[in-house]
Amino acid sequence: MASLFDLHPPSDPSGALVEPAAATGPRRVSVMLPFPFPGPFDYNVPSDLDPAPGDVVLVPLNGREQFGVVWDAEPDPNLPARKLKALLAIVDTPPMRENLRRFVDWIAAYTLSPPGEVMAMALRVARPPTGPTTGWRRSTPMPDGVRMTPARHAVLDVLARAEPRATSELARAAEVSGAVVRGMADLGMLVMEALPADLPFVPPDPDYPGPTLSGDQKTAAVALRQAVAAKAFQVHLLEGVTGSGKTEVYLEAVAECLRQNRQALILLPEIALSAQFLARFERRFGVAPAVWHSHLTSRVRRITWRAVEDGQAPVVVGARSALFLPFPDLGLIVVDEEHETAFKQEDGVVYHARDMAVVRARLSAAPAVLVSATPSLETVANVEAGRYSRLHLPNRHGGASLPHIEALDLRDTPPERGRFLAPPLIAAMRETLARGEQVMLFLNRRGYAPLTLCRHCGHRMQCPNCTAWLVEHRTRSELQCHHCGHTTPIPPDCPSCGKANALVPIGPGVERITEEVAVLFPDARRLVMASDTLPGPQAAAEAERAIQNREIDLIIGTQIVAKGWHFPHLTLVGVVDADLGLAGGDLRAGERTVQLLHQVAGRAGRAEAPGRVILQTFSPEHPVMQALVAGDLETFMACEAAQRRPGHWPPYGRLAALIVSADSAQVADELARDLGRAAPQVEGVQVLGPAPAPLMILRGRHRRRLLLKTRRDTPVQPLLRAWLEKVKVPRGGRVDVDVDPVSFL
Ligand code: ADP
Ligand code: ZN
Repeated sequence: MASLFDLHPPSDPSGALVEPAAATGPRRVSVMLPFPFPGPFDYNVPSDLDPAPGDVVLVPLNGREQFGVVWDAEPDPNLPARKLKALLAIVDTPPMRENLRRFVDWIAAYTLSPPGEVMAMALRVARPPTGPTTGWRRSTPMPDGVRMTPARHAVLDVLARAEPRATSELARAAEVSGAVVRGMADLGMLVMEALPADLPFVPPDPDYPGPTLSGDQKTAAVALRQAVAAKAFQVHLLEGVTGSGKTEVYLEAVAECLRQNRQALILLPEIALSAQFLARFERRFGVAPAVWHSHLTSRVRRITWRAVEDGQAPVVVGARSALFLPFPDLGLIVVDEEHETAFKQEDGVVYHARDMAVVRARLSAAPAVLVSATPSLETVANVEAGRYSRLHLPNRHGGASLPHIEALDLRDTPPERGRFLAPPLIAAMRETLARGEQVMLFLNRRGYAPLTLCRHCGHRMQCPNCTAWLVEHRTRSELQCHHCGHTTPIPPDCPSCGKANALVPIGPGVERITEEVAVLFPDARRLVMASDTLPGPQAAAEAERAIQNREIDLIIGTQIVAKGWHFPHLTLVGVVDADLGLAGGDLRAGERTVQLLHQVAGRAGRAEAPGRVILQTFSPEHPVMQALVAGDLETFMACEAAQRRPGHWPPYGRLAALIVSADSAQVADELARDLGRAAPQVEGVQVLGPAPAPLMILRGRHRRRLLLKTRRDTPVQPLLRAWLEKVKVPRGGRVDVDVDPVSFL
């Protein structure tokens, strides 16, 4: 994203040392606290302490002790010393380095987030070591005569796949109560064991024999190796069809980084990827890398953090929060599947991890490598403008051909009434299964049906807290809101007219497709892959193993199946509803659908057997379907660019959204209207709205949206700051800022 280069770091890049503020009185420092204050607070420094910028300190705040970090801002010399409180202590933990502090400042300024809230993402992990030193493992053999319950099974399952865990963490991972764990311990099913104080972070060996690269791969790998050796900031797009060897190529860059004795960070969009990815990494380097994601136990988190901090973990593979790890000497950042919207964090500090990875690389004087088969238009535009360089792998490795993609016109060959799979797709599935090959059906919808309505009175089952339908999850016999998580049992009678047995499911989710498939192919072994059926990396790893061992014939999945998997025996992919992502008029709906479906299609035919992809659609003439069928994404992206350029839509212009929310519709409307009236009146700047948000009510809060659109060369942050300052936010109201919005809900 271009703006990263146009905006300068917000604070003094020299990181000036903290000097005594005034000739008289005690020395003072500014301290950033992990709360949404507008900036750091000043504190007096007692004569026995000598804090330096980056030091983690303990300070008094509202009668409590809090951790904070000594910041580089100049303390305000005009505040009388007696008004300031004094530092309590300097905490014995590694200081937050200069370049991480600048990163925090940068993100805060760019996203208009309170800097303390951004800092909290880096500090949270820096807490001084605490936590369990012992954990439970399963006893072998199991004592005789103990009763096995589903809860006990769940506990043993967790321990079968992972290291010993303390009671609370074990209970959380198994989704049981602590009492279950303690009960099992009492029965002798679990035994206590000391947790090792350290994890072995064996340095990966860059000279471990890797694959012999093909010509194109070699060219790209040489370019990346040189970029790493140059120890300078550069951004490369590594683009190539699925299966072309992009991963092998960027692992060469990682090898070079290891030879330079610098650290490498590989960001992945979903942890689902990491099981397969780790095995992959291990094949290339002989050992596994350090990993960083939200499913780590607090102990592993702490140890990993330390290992990164003191340079013992040379390579980290992580989710977006890994950007905030304390690398002393980062030499490379790889962002795999850079086009993924999962890199955008939508809660709390709203930031795009791909874009912030570029910022972190720049602050570390290191190259960034953005990797994708279907790069975002943002990245493509940066290549075209000469800001990023492009490395291209045009062919699948080993002569594997790209899958054959066809559109199946549902108007010509509709599914049977009440069914969702059209006869030609069913026929193709039958042939594929008969050959002993695997089939994947893709539908980006969890649950059984997205809508339940009363066929007597037309009542629709809606979330009481959100403007959203409740989604039926038949296996759990409940209706769930996918926005707020609200659940309710499926009522026997219509809650509106009282008619019995009148509620009917409308439309399919993966569960319903699975039911249809079970009738059609009763002997096929089925697996549903969705975020709620594969909740963590271990479940994903187990699924992957079963598929690779051909214990599964038919996979029915949501977008979780699109990510990086390599299933050699999978030769048919059926997209149940290719039109699904195109509704809604989102700026990037077409781009995203092409990226997602291309990625899903790329799961087919990754080895010798050719792959086939069938897209069920009502509009085969749509440019998205045409591009997929022709395998010509470049022309599609060029059309997208041509459509966005004249109106200065991203990436040829900038957007920032203001999301107004309030506990009443009236407050939301008034606040939105006030913001509308105060909108900047500047040449080339347009404000759209206020308008009700598509999710007009979310978790009981009423929402309105405004959208600021500017030319590319207009920085939006000063405009937004001036705008927000003009409007007073009433009690119960709130304005959230989303710079470069990805979601418009
Ligand atoms: P991508 O990341 O572009 O989807 P991968 O790097 O995953 O592609 O490569 C696809 C498959 O081909 C992987 O199993 C990989 O190990 C294999 N592969 C790629 N390049 C080579 C090579 N030069 N020699 C041997 N195997 C390769
Ligand atoms: Zn809800």
